[in-house]
Amino acid sequence: MALFYKSTRDPKNVVSASQAILQGLAVDGGLYVPTEIPKPVLDFAELAEQSYQEIAAQIMQLFLPDFTQDELRDCINQAYDQKFDDPKITPLVKADGQYYLELFHGPTLAFKDLALSILPHLMKKAAQKNNLDKEIVILTATSGDTGKSAMAGFADVENTKIVVFYPENGVSPIQERQMVTQKGANTFVAAIEGNFDDAQTKVKQLFNDENLRSKMAQNNKAFSSANSINIGRLVPQIVYYVYAYTRLIKTGRIKSGEEINVSVPTGNFGDILAGFYAKKMGLPIRRLVCASNQNNVLTDFFQTGNYDRNRPFYITSSPSMDILVSSNLERLLFYLAKEDTAQTKQLMDDLNEKGTYTITPEMKEGLSDFFADFASEEETAETIRKMYEDGAYVIDPHTAVASCVAEKYPNDEKIPTVVLSTASPYKFPQAVLQAINKENIAAEGFAAIDKLHQIAKVSIPASIQELEKAKIRHHDRISADQMTDFVEKALDLK
Ligand SMILES: *Cc1c(COP(=O)(O)O)cnc(C)c1O
Repeated sequence: MALFYKSTRDPKNVVSASQAILQGLAVDGGLYVPTEIPKPVLDFAELAEQSYQEIAAQIMQLFLPDFTQDELRDCINQAYDQKFDDPKITPLVKADGQYYLELFHGPTLAFKDLALSILPHLMKKAAQKNNLDKEIVILTATSGDTGKSAMAGFADVENTKIVVFYPENGVSPIQERQMVTQKGANTFVAAIEGNFDDAQTKVKQLFNDENLRSKMAQNNKAFSSANSINIGRLVPQIVYYVYAYTRLIKTGRIKSGEEINVSVPTGNFGDILAGFYAKKMGLPIRRLVCASNQNNVLTDFFQTGNYDRNRPFYITSSPSMDILVSSNLERLLFYLAKEDTAQTKQLMDDLNEKGTYTITPEMKEGLSDFFADFASEEETAETIRKMYEDGAYVIDPHTAVASCVAEKYPNDEKIPTVVLSTASPYKFPQAVLQAINKENIAAEGFAAIDKLHQIAKVSIPASIQELEKAKIRHHDRISADQMTDFVEKALDLK
């Protein structure tokens, strides 16, 4: 049976993989999920001999059947090339008893590059397949990592434009510099007076602005989404779970078929959901460890069955996980409800109206694939320090959260654990320095990077080195009210 995508809120809304990628979100407000999860016969010993790109071609073909193998290989080759500063793409390293899958070797030093370097190519092919000759316009509000990663992915991709808004005081100095130095005639970025929520709310309004939409249509343009609700972001992330497992085989750490645990620093629940698909597909994962920071809404949900976003919001050292509404959890709820769309929709309506919902005891049974816990700010800093001192390995705060929570899991059978390392420590040099040595608090910006380099003795990624000299190309600071105007100018609609 061919694989299609259906909405979590309406069983009759069924589209092809390429259409799901173009749409991003289903029109009924639901998220697209595959009509069935592929159950291939996976020959792990054989996969262990293959490269990242070869594994990607096989796994992605299973989930994107309306792309030909040649089309996928073409996308893969354009995405996973010298943009990554390690030919392995996602190297697996061992430190202090755990395995770290380094997902930060892409152009913007965060794991989002694995999906956002290929999404533009998938979208372009999807548009051709569906005879969509419109220019695709990606509109994004970002709290730091997604905006830069998406711009890097879409820069100079034919027939696309990308517009990014970030809160003027809400991103790290390195993250801001990464964005304002972005090259590419089709990239546009502006700082917004206000916080991330202001930018996000306005972006949602722009998507549904009738006047703007009709101007877009007249000019042969259409909006799409590059955030993690798009299955075009989820599918490429399944690949590195398979890759990590097969590297453990290749290096003789496990035998084919042996189980592993994977610990995932979680915010919007996209990365760990890709792991869930990998497990359902047949990858021998015992537990998916859902690691949260102090914004531990998911920890409470997994432990009690009650999701409650009515709680204080903390700004932490792992900002990409500072989130109280994890969009992709809707897909897990759909599976927990045995694909009951009405039940899924009811829970999401409860969340919208009351900010909370509780799943049934039957649904709760399905949570046994997961272990969830969180790391406090002190525990996160302590983990960075301990890894540096005992493991001679420097990790970023997001990775430290996952490492810390992995240690909390009662792993009595000593199953090997892979920690997903989602960002380079050079992206958060100040937090890392402070954790390692409290005397380093004063160092900021590039001074912090140099200091971290002296301590860590890990070479500074080229993209960070270039950043200091890079020309600033984007200067706009605007109010939320000026965003419509900014978009119309960027798209030549004026
Ligand atoms: C986005 C992000 C996360 C969280 O990933 P989700 O898919 O949103 O759960 C973790 N770490 C880093 C560095 C990120 O950028």
